[in-house]
This record gives sequence, C-alpha cells and structure tokens, in this order.
Amino acid sequence: MRIGIIGAMPQEIDRIEMDFEAERIEQIAGRAYHIGRFAGAECVLVFSRWGKVAAASTATVLIERFAVDLVIFTGVAGAVSPALNVGDIVIADRLLQHDFDVSSVGKNATEMFAKFEIPLLGISYFPVDSRLVELADHAAKEYLASHSFQTPLLKSKGNIYIGTIASGDQFIAHPNRLEELRSAIPDLLCVEMEGAAVAQVCYEYGIPYLVIRTISDKADHSAGMDFITFIKDIAQHYSHGIVQQLIPKLLTM
Ligand code: SAH
Repeated sequence: MRIGIIGAMPQEIDRIEMDFEAERIEQIAGRAYHIGRFAGAECVLVFSRWGKVAAASTATVLIERFAVDLVIFTGVAGAVSPALNVGDIVIADRLLQHDFDVSSVGKNATEMFAKFEIPLLGISYFPVDSRLVELADHAAKEYLASHSFQTPLLKSKGNIYIGTIASGDQFIAHPNRLEELRSAIPDLLCVEMEGAAVAQVCYEYGIPYLVIRTISDKADHSAGMDFITFIKDIAQHYSHGIVQQLIPKLLTM
C-alpha cells in the first residue's frame, strides 16, 4: 500500500518530514513530492499550498504520478460548532464545498440543483469510508492519551470529534460569516480550505481518503493570531503523532 500524505502548509508537515525516510524528492508543478517511507509504509509526502485548486492538483498528481492507494490530509481548521475549542481534533466523516452553489440552475425540466450539490456527481457531501474514520479515531485517541502539551495556546486537552468538514477558498475570520455557515450547514464542525477538494478528486478516482484537522482558531476576529506558533507548537506534533499511529493500522486492513 502506498499512502499519500498532504498538508496545506510546510509547517503542518515539518514534523512528519523530520522522521520521513525520503528516497528522493520530485518537483512537479511547484510542489516537492517526498517519496519514501514513514511509520512502516511506502508514502509520498507533500504540502499542497492553500485552497481547493492547489489541493486538487496535488491530490491528482499523487494518484496519477505516484499511484497512491489512499490519501491522508492533515492540518488545521477553524471551529464552526461552538462545542469545539482550539486543540480539539476533527476527523471528517463527510466533506462539502461551502462556496459551491449552483442552486439557481435547473438540473432538469422540473428540478433545481441542491445547494452545494456537485453537478453530474449528484451529491453535495463526499463520504469518508467508515472503517477509515474508525481507525483514525483510534489513532487520535491513542496519541492524545500518551502526549500532553503545556501551552496557553491550547484551550482543550483534545477532544476528538467525527463529523462534517466544509472547505472553501476563504479564510473564515468573521462572526457574521460564521453565522452564515452555521445556518447553511447545521451539523458543520469546522471549516478549512482543502479537504473537500481532495475528497472530490479521490472520490472521482475511487481512492479512499481521510481528512484529519486540529482546531487552530474559532473562525472569528482572533482567527489569524498566533497561527504559525500554534502550528509549530501543537498542530504539527498532532499531525505527526496521529498519522504515525494510524499508518500501521491501515496496513493491517
Ligand atoms: N492567517 C494565517 C493563514 C491562514 S492559513 C496566517 O497568519 O498564517 C489557512 C490554512 O489554514 C488553510 O490551509 C486552511 O485549510 C486552514 N484554516 C485554518 N483556520 C481556518 C479558517 N478559520 N478558515 C479557513 N481555513 C482555515
């Protein structure tokens, strides 16, 4: 099994890169694909840059060029559900693109497209394989049980949530936008800029995928603050630890 691992920012995957046994690095369309081994598996590690297009092109290269069997996206996200705090972990069981809306267009003579629906695919939500979600949940629980970080940046000891993640080409940092998202997608846990794009590419190729996010901010006025410090001090360690626990479980599937 060959596993593709994507983070959106170099800082998100720095800690994984430290332990990554790279055989070679291939530069393709501005991305550095690290080909080698991590946690006992053949892996390709890459940072995609921000946003849905960047993430989709990166996922496509992982599949087309490196023939990965599974894609794991790991990084940070803004909380949308008031239940979530900075330091919590979200594992997506489904993903949607919150800025995709062709609901003013007729699907056929009698029916309009649903909000968020992707034409021709006929779905709004990209589902994640439930067995993979379960394994990611176990991996996150094991990691958090054996590690604790002391920093004022952390507002939670790390609760693990499984649910809906929304992606769009916007950094959400305003209470009004947050309210809009909450009312449009009532079960939404968190928001980020890449997961659903990776999910769509993988879905169309028939490749399984996982999106695991650490909550870095509450998508309000304070969202941009201390961001990089949080990733360096906390999120990159969570990404490393959870993916490291997860990969051996995936290999036994
Ligand atoms: N303000 C930050 C940069 C935003 S980072 C800085 O100062 O560096 C954007 C990345 O974090 C994207 O990869 C996205 O997926 C994720 N992200 C974290 N919080 C987010 C939020 N509130 N809205 C959208 N994306 C968010």
